[in-house]
Amino acid sequence: MSQREGSLEAPTRHPLEWQTPEFYNIDATLKEMERVFDICHGCRRCVSLCNAFPRLFDLIDASPTFEVDGVPKEQYWQVVDQCYLCDVCYLTKCPYVPPHPWNVDFPHLMLRAKAIQFKQGSPTTFRDNALSSTDRNGKLASIPVVVTFVNAAARNPTMRAIGEKVVGVHRTAWVPEFTSKTFRTHAAASAPYPVVAGQRTAGKVAIYSTCYVNYNEPGIGHDLIKILDHNRIPYVIIEKEACCGMPKFELGDLESVAKLKAKNIPPLAQLAREGYTIVTPIPSCTLMFKQELPLMFPNDAEVQAVKAAMMDPFEYLVARKKDGLLQSDFKTHLGHVSYHVPCHSRVQNVGQKTREMLEMVPNTQVTTVERCSGHAGTWGVKKEFHEIALKIGKPVFRQMDDAAPDYISSDCQLAAHHIEQGIELLNKDKPASGKKAQTAHPITLIRKAYGLPD
Ligand code: SF4
Ligand code: SF4
Repeated sequence: MSQREGSLEAPTRHPLEWQTPEFYNIDATLKEMERVFDICHGCRRCVSLCNAFPRLFDLIDASPTFEVDGVPKEQYWQVVDQCYLCDVCYLTKCPYVPPHPWNVDFPHLMLRAKAIQFKQGSPTTFRDNALSSTDRNGKLASIPVVVTFVNAAARNPTMRAIGEKVVGVHRTAWVPEFTSKTFRTHAAASAPYPVVAGQRTAGKVAIYSTCYVNYNEPGIGHDLIKILDHNRIPYVIIEKEACCGMPKFELGDLESVAKLKAKNIPPLAQLAREGYTIVTPIPSCTLMFKQELPLMFPNDAEVQAVKAAMMDPFEYLVARKKDGLLQSDFKTHLGHVSYHVPCHSRVQNVGQKTREMLEMVPNTQVTTVERCSGHAGTWGVKKEFHEIALKIGKPVFRQMDDAAPDYISSDCQLAAHHIEQGIELLNKDKPASGKKAQTAHPITLIRKAYGLPD
């Protein structure tokens, strides 16, 4: 039967059948990889997205048959290791995703392979488990005496060299500092504003602060509540949150994802039932609740309720503007902002709401770069992947630097710091130009634009 080129229907995604024995069947998984790799070999559209596709095509081109059937199956895992589950190939490139009968879901096939790898264990299991335990790391590292040591060690080249050898974190990769003044313990309580719902927006917000904002950059969370306060939107901070599970998901550790889901979903579902919009300032965490958990638990009504209530902060603020309920009394222009759209924002399919919001600020020019920075959560700091992460991000570094901006900004603050490091490397042998862009999260930029104090 002939098949038409590409699908005309909107993409759909099948639930993840991760609780079936078939999901962990190695032979079935390798067979499915062979089928999908063969379609990709005939297509090659995704060659520039990441390193997974170039690795696949190199293996095919080096095989005796120049076809997938010439690649030994044990080499398939090299492709799996290069995928960091950004989802961009599925959601922005592939014409063969369901409902097309070829049924290509490259990221979820890689996830299935990672889940098998995780169950089997690998030489990097200890390092991978440690890096993906963001909540546990944050709790430990934010203890007052420990925090000083951890932050000093992160800046010390000798300690970083030891860390690279022992833990497998690349010695020059940017790593975040920790704080003992965590967001959740220092967040200001909301003023008792009346709840004013709009046609598109709930009038009250619950903030899922995320491990990163809570333990590493609480300023982003404080800026978010200042913006809500300025717009007289009452909010609550979710006190008993656990990690969203994305770092464990990216590792294929789906049992741990399920345990974290069991902690997070009941209180979040309760807030959803009470009519709150739930916002999270990190796109990967938003995506976890909007896409991955609903696909892992398609019949769980509470997961679906949280999905319906979850919004990117800028998706909420721009909808609030359309409801005529957003303050536009911006006092400070931002100059030139070089703005990066992270993959996990792109795949939420809500449009460039952050850019729209930044462009509301008078005398502000926004240059947008919509391409993978290469950081990908914990992937880009690992010893074996950091150099590749810098290579993947190079076009982003160049484009953002060429814009000669006042600010470098990305919804993903990890990506922003990776970009900052990439730009520094790009310019290391050039004479200093005198102007250095500041790195600031878009939420911080809007707080500044409103003229609200730090
Ligand atoms: S999900 Fe992202 S990293 Fe994985 S293969 Fe697709 S584009 Fe590459
Ligand atoms: S994932 Fe889809 S678009 Fe990308 S190379 Fe494979 S078949 Fe082509």
